[in-house]
Amino acid sequence: MLVSAPSVSRLNALHCSACGTIHSAFALQRVSACCGVPLVAGYDLAPRPPGAVINAADASMWRYGALLPLLDEKNKVTLGEGFTPILPLPRLGARHGLASLLLKDEGQNPTGSFKARGLSMAVSKALELGVAGCIVPTAGNAGVALAAYCARAGLAATVVMPRHTPAAFKEECYWYGADVELVDGLISDCAARVRQLNAAGALLDVSTLKEPYRLEGKKTMGYEIAEQLGWQLPDVLLYPAGGGTGLIGIWKAFREMQALGWLAPGTRLPRMVAVQAENCCPLLETYEGRQPNCQHYRGRPTLANGLAVPHPLGEALMLRVLRESNGTVVAVSEEDMLAGMRELGQQEGLFVAPEGAAVWMAARRLLASGWARPHEQLLLLNTGSAQKYLDNVAGRSQR
Ligand SMILES: *Cc1c(COP(=O)(O)O)cnc(C)c1O
Ligand SMILES: [Zn+2]
Repeated sequence: MLVSAPSVSRLNALHCSACGTIHSAFALQRVSACCGVPLVAGYDLAPRPPGAVINAADASMWRYGALLPLLDEKNKVTLGEGFTPILPLPRLGARHGLASLLLKDEGQNPTGSFKARGLSMAVSKALELGVAGCIVPTAGNAGVALAAYCARAGLAATVVMPRHTPAAFKEECYWYGADVELVDGLISDCAARVRQLNAAGALLDVSTLKEPYRLEGKKTMGYEIAEQLGWQLPDVLLYPAGGGTGLIGIWKAFREMQALGWLAPGTRLPRMVAVQAENCCPLLETYEGRQPNCQHYRGRPTLANGLAVPHPLGEALMLRVLRESNGTVVAVSEEDMLAGMRELGQQEGLFVAPEGAAVWMAARRLLASGWARPHEQLLLLNTGSAQKYLDNVAGRSQR
């Protein structure tokens, strides 16, 4: 029997991620007023079967609307994001002796990356909360997604990105009518410029984890993984971590599903792997104890733009996920990203962003070291399509 699926949000609070203090979920919030750290949305998670909560007719991330923070459907700003396929990679798996290798292809999202999820959510809330426009520092994909969703919502968008970002990212923002500022440096330098531009606070700053809504959009990946795998989870999940919203969000979804009673009996949560670029790996440095104060860390540009985040605000939350899941961090070289792109392209017909290629090369490294085992199920998160990265990768399809 089909149970009707109300999408009424069960949002009930925003929690400070450091001290737990509760803040109103019904007013515009940024970071926590108490500690200045990310706020995390809380819901009424009283157990109910998935069929009574999920809107099965909606083939987008909004099928989980009851577990998202949008209060009124009329404010939803959507381009059909989410509910991306999980593809088995049989040829690649067999080549490396793996029993079950899976890839969730976030490159199939509107605007070509999983940033669509977070920004669909954040722009919808911006509309609901009545702000005039949004601003973001970005390595590329977040800016493109913000520009697209703001255009669709009729809101102003300001995008601040490094000058060295491949042209396709800038160009797409222009076509959506966004204001684009180019800055010499990395995303951390763009963030400083955003603070200047938005000193008066007229715009909603949708920087990673400086508002609680992008995280909620990203968490839908966790719900989808469980639903698509029949309420079971892989043994190991590999994610390319820049600011870390995907890693933190997916883990949050797993915890929420435990509370909701949705996971198959005996299901263990995956070991979560954060994959970084050797050129910019602050999380690895902290994880290995070399860099207790991340403010001094200097990253270099990388082919994987999305991983060039020298000072992630969510570092403590990422480390918590790694600790709770028995996970680890791996950093991948630029050459290895290209090798991973070639292998995924030639073996499976996938043109993945360098971030996604890094994830595959990290899996190979963990298999070689014995940290991951051939009989385990590995799920790779490919966060974007390679199309917009051509400035950096064109001509390098052969060694
Ligand atoms: C932004 C981005 C990442 C990193 O995402 P975070 O949520 O910042 O960890 C990874 N891959 C791609 C393609 C991205 O655009
Ligand atoms: Zn606090």
